Amino acid sequence: MTSTEGDSKLRVAIVGGGTVGLSFALYLNQLDTCDITVYESTKAFSTIGAGIEISHNAMKVYQVMGLADTVYELAAAASGDASNTWFDVWFGTRRIGATPICTVLANTKLHRADALDLLVRRVPGEKVILGKHLESWERTAGGGVVMTFTDGTVAEADVLVGADGIKSVYVANLDQRLVHSQHLARAGVEPKWSGCIAYRGLIPMEKAVSNLGEYYAYRPNLVSSRCLLEHIIQYPVSRGQFVNLIAYVSDFDHGRYPEWDGSPLVEPADTSKMLENFKDYSPPLRNMLAGIENPLKWAIFELPPLPSYASGYVVLIGDAAHAAVPHQGNGASQGIEDAHVLANLLSHPLCTKATVPLALKAYDAVRRPRSQRLQQSSYDVGRLFECVSDAGEDEAKIAEAFATVMEWVWSVDINEQRDRAFRLFEESLSNMAEYAMSV
Ligand SMILES: Cc1cc2nc3c(=O)[nH]c(=O)nc-3n(C[C@H](O)[C@H](O)[C@H](O)COP(=O)(O)OP(=O)(O)OC[C@H]3O[C@@H](n4cnc5c(N)ncnc54)[C@H](O)[C@@H]3O)c2cc1C
Repeated sequence: MTSTEGDSKLRVAIVGGGTVGLSFALYLNQLDTCDITVYESTKAFSTIGAGIEISHNAMKVYQVMGLADTVYELAAAASGDASNTWFDVWFGTRRIGATPICTVLANTKLHRADALDLLVRRVPGEKVILGKHLESWERTAGGGVVMTFTDGTVAEADVLVGADGIKSVYVANLDQRLVHSQHLARAGVEPKWSGCIAYRGLIPMEKAVSNLGEYYAYRPNLVSSRCLLEHIIQYPVSRGQFVNLIAYVSDFDHGRYPEWDGSPLVEPADTSKMLENFKDYSPPLRNMLAGIENPLKWAIFELPPLPSYASGYVVLIGDAAHAAVPHQGNGASQGIEDAHVLANLLSHPLCTKATVPLALKAYDAVRRPRSQRLQQSSYDVGRLFECVSDAGEDEAKIAEAFATVMEWVWSVDINEQRDRAFRLFEESLSNMAEYAMSV
């Protein structure tokens, strides 16, 4: 038996056409073992936010999918010689132009629209249905699910992959629970404010060059002021036409999940109010912030660790499963790792409609610990950047921590994850067979 048991392939519904949903859709479609349909609630693919790092770990998956060269080209075109640099780190009184406390190598940064477009162009159009917002779903008697959309239409699938992100829930209405949560272990686990606000946007390269000079405008910079609970990151995107800027301000005084005041979660930023937070920064950096075109103010929410990513025929990937604060730039990249493990499991020769729940459990067992470790470590890295980690304000300790902080994330062996998931799945199948023989 295979996932193409009989003549019919497993029907896999992917709800959400963001970076993770589309990466998974493309991967599974390339393996050609399942029939996929992507249901995306918006009428056209789009992405908000300007830059994105596709980290080294995710690039290993994109390599398998044949996308890596294009991503490297886009990143290199944006940042030239700096395309292999995560960040030059500037701290305390050191201004851009002095000596950074350290430089961390290896990463790939691009415009989010370019990253999404890369996928949109490769997922066959007839497998994507736009303007379909999933409202609810029920398990069917014979396994699988029936989904109801807000336009009143219904569709059936053997597997429902929730790739609908965190934003869809909290941007719409904080009190509204994710559709899956009625049935999944996610029930009762709601996105929470991380204490962090991010001001984001793009500044044209010529303005960046006039503020920082050509060399620094093209470098990825991370600038943290001593003990002010804020930091700024910037890097070039869109073939060097723009510099992506994100300026973070954090509240670490009110616990892990401070209460959110109820204001909109994404809204246009008032530039003068934004600048008040960065009054101790050097004039060139303040000019960079002042030069952001249409800056947005984001409340950074995250998802507390879920007890499970899989239940029966339903499984979560990407931010829907493990939305994290962005300080390690790895939220989407973790979702791309999810795609690698899940697409391979669903293509396993023994994965059939009857055995799908066991395959999804194996996915959960492999992917949940690692992605939840990232959720915690990304938060801790935010504390490092803002001088409230154990390293405090000690430049040498901060530089030492920076040097290794991405190591476990980037060095992952993606095929070890896949093979471990295969083993768990195969063991659970043989346990099931033994049990069946014994009764
Ligand atoms: C400031 C900031 C910087 C970041 N930087 C990085 C970075 O550099 N690198 C990185 O890897 N990650 C980064 N992240 C995290 C990254 O943006 C997310 O992890 C990633 O976008 C999640 O992708 P996703 O596809 O899971 O979810 P989303 O991008 O949220 O996509 C979900 C999709 O589902 C659709 N949808 C929602 N509900 C429904 C429904 N009911 N029915 C149908 N469709 C639905 C939505 O319209 C959307 O298209 C950053 C995050 C922030 C906030």
